[in-house]
Amino acid sequence: MKAGFVKKGFQFQVKDVPLRAIEENEVLVSVKTCSLCGHDLILAGYAAEDFIQFGHEVAGVVEAVGRLVKNVAVGDKVVLESGTFDRFSDACRNGHPELDNKGPNFWERPGETMGFAEKIIVPMETCVKFNDLSFLAACNIEPMGVALDLVKAGDIRLGDRVLVMGLGPIGLMAARLARLSGAIKVYATEMPDCEAKIKLAKEWGVDEVFAPDNIPVRVNKVLVTAPPVVINQGIDVCEVGGTVSFLGIAYGEAGVIPLDTTKIHFDKIKVIPSHASPALHFPECISLAEAGMINLEQVVTHPFKIDDMQEKIVEFKQDKKNGIKAVMVND
Ligand SMILES: [Zn+2]
Repeated sequence: MKAGFVKKGFQFQVKDVPLRAIEENEVLVSVKTCSLCGHDLILAGYAAEDFIQFGHEVAGVVEAVGRLVKNVAVGDKVVLESGTFDRFSDACRNGHPELDNKGPNFWERPGETMGFAEKIIVPMETCVKFNDLSFLAACNIEPMGVALDLVKAGDIRLGDRVLVMGLGPIGLMAARLARLSGAIKVYATEMPDCEAKIKLAKEWGVDEVFAPDNIPVRVNKVLVTAPPVVINQGIDVCEVGGTVSFLGIAYGEAGVIPLDTTKIHFDKIKVIPSHASPALHFPECISLAEAGMINLEQVVTHPFKIDDMQEKIVEFKQDKKNGIKAVMVND
């Protein structure tokens, strides 16, 4: 079976790997699509010291189930939660599954196959069924869950005026969801050369897209999907009583930023993180996509075959003008 590997310096390899037997609580999924995430680009850029398997935004078909699996059956179409909660944890028992991310997942299994492969073995708890979506759309349910978590963290409501900072796939989806939530104005920031992202944003209901260094509006809700350093800009354009929610991650010193606590204090601004681990909201995202409220196929600009991974991912990374999301598509 073919599986993709990544190493820093944008090196990719496709190798033939053996497929082990599934355990009684596991599911074998035939991967149909796997979407390339910003985190995968971090691995390719600097984080993967050696070749490792990667890919966590997966849609496929159940090919086999272990003896104890009850939630899915052979032939079901599924998307995979990259990690879920442990229903026996204290946090879950106290009604807060969102505070437990130590449950079943397919991240922390070094050497095991991940999403960029022909097949993947996963814990049954991570499988969520869907019916009326294409596989091209379905692999984007995982990042949509991340976007929805941000929108929920920001408590976007009817009548809000929202600024989305950064129009990557998650920013685009967050903007769409903000519009669907009843925002009367949705603005965004993005580099002017990212033409495909700006075009889709407008199609999805964004009123205006500004260059990041020139934001001429003030809003009551800011959603930050760009690196943490821009959080201050979000605070600057926030009205009294507004909310800045953010999910951009940077490691090391880049994650530490100065904050104008005087403005935050006197303007009563709430600064709220969103971290979609455990993965939540998948059924809600599937319902919205199946109802046609958001067409997730539209973010896919660079489909590729597993064998062409090296060439196509590098090509995608360089194509700022047309690129939104690259997706591996298996036959
Ligand atoms: Zn991701």
